[in-house]
Amino acid sequence: MIDMNQPDIKFAIEAVRQSCALAQQVQAGMKVEGLAKGDLSPVTVADFAVQALIGKGFQEHLSGATLVGEESSEMLQTGDGAETLARVREFIAPFAEGASNTAVCDWIDQGTGEPGDRYWTLDPIDGTKGYLRGEQYAIALGLVENGEVQFGILGCPNLGEGCAPDMGAGIVAVAQRGNGAYYSSAGKDFQPLHASPQTDPTQARIMRSVESGHTNVGEIDYIAEKLGVIAEPVRLDSQAKYAVLAAGGAEMLLRLMSPKYPNYKECIWDQAAGSIVLEEAGGRITDLKGNALDFSHGRKLLQNTGVFASNGHLHDVSLEAIQAVCNLPE
Ligand code: AMP
Ligand code: MG
Repeated sequence: MIDMNQPDIKFAIEAVRQSCALAQQVQAGMKVEGLAKGDLSPVTVADFAVQALIGKGFQEHLSGATLVGEESSEMLQTGDGAETLARVREFIAPFAEGASNTAVCDWIDQGTGEPGDRYWTLDPIDGTKGYLRGEQYAIALGLVENGEVQFGILGCPNLGEGCAPDMGAGIVAVAQRGNGAYYSSAGKDFQPLHASPQTDPTQARIMRSVESGHTNVGEIDYIAEKLGVIAEPVRLDSQAKYAVLAAGGAEMLLRLMSPKYPNYKECIWDQAAGSIVLEEAGGRITDLKGNALDFSHGRKLLQNTGVFASNGHLHDVSLEAIQAVCNLPE
């Protein structure tokens, strides 16, 4: 059981909850005018606003901690960035006192730490394309110690009860190494997450990115065929996929190497929170060769090739199929 009242955990959960509300407000606020003002993307504004809000929280509650976020304020400090900064300020103001230009940039840059022995990592808006389409996206915050994720939170504003991708009222999923994974739907009490008990590969539900360029769709079909999987793959953006897997809503998640980017390396913030939510729900996550994800090589998973996540039971048999189908680099 996770002690949700432990101060760091309580702060982190509240920060992610607030960030979900902020991201939703940006989406609602910019939708109407977005058509006329096509030059400013709501996802850019939300990305910076969420990192600023969480960065401010770190300054106040975890000032000694290292935060490695996806963004920095550099772009906002140029002439072209002034308009974006103004919008970020406007949207963050109801959530954060003292949101001047300088303060907002300073909050964002609280997240420009370097990954070391102990660091937090943040993807302020994971699944930017899903966010733009009004579909799935996630706010992902993880804590890494000695290359291994110890704690993680996913905020998924468009997942519903049981982490179903049904455009529900939103969930927050929390996991701590050794202490399980839990989710709260629409702010209600936390409930345990359990990965699917399915042991028959033919019954597996496979998830993949919506963006075909983030995986290899042809190889996913071959792997499915090899395993005798009946159902078509389900497409979902962002680490919301890990929450669905952790809740037993699917059995496998394949992040194969895109033929366009055969040497792509995953970013730490794209995997940290999601991976521990799945593992603590009883699932398994490795790279495509079966190696553990190694978060001790800077901002990218330099030692890993792609990602394969499952309910656990179907992991080894699927790795065999993956290795038979994919031509993985040495
Ligand atoms: P998804 O929502 O599953 O498509 O994953 C979104 C994440 O994929 C983004 O946060 C990107 O950092 C990451 N990404 C970008 N390019 C690639 C690529 N070529 N292969 C795999 N992931 C990528
Ligand atoms: Mg991302």
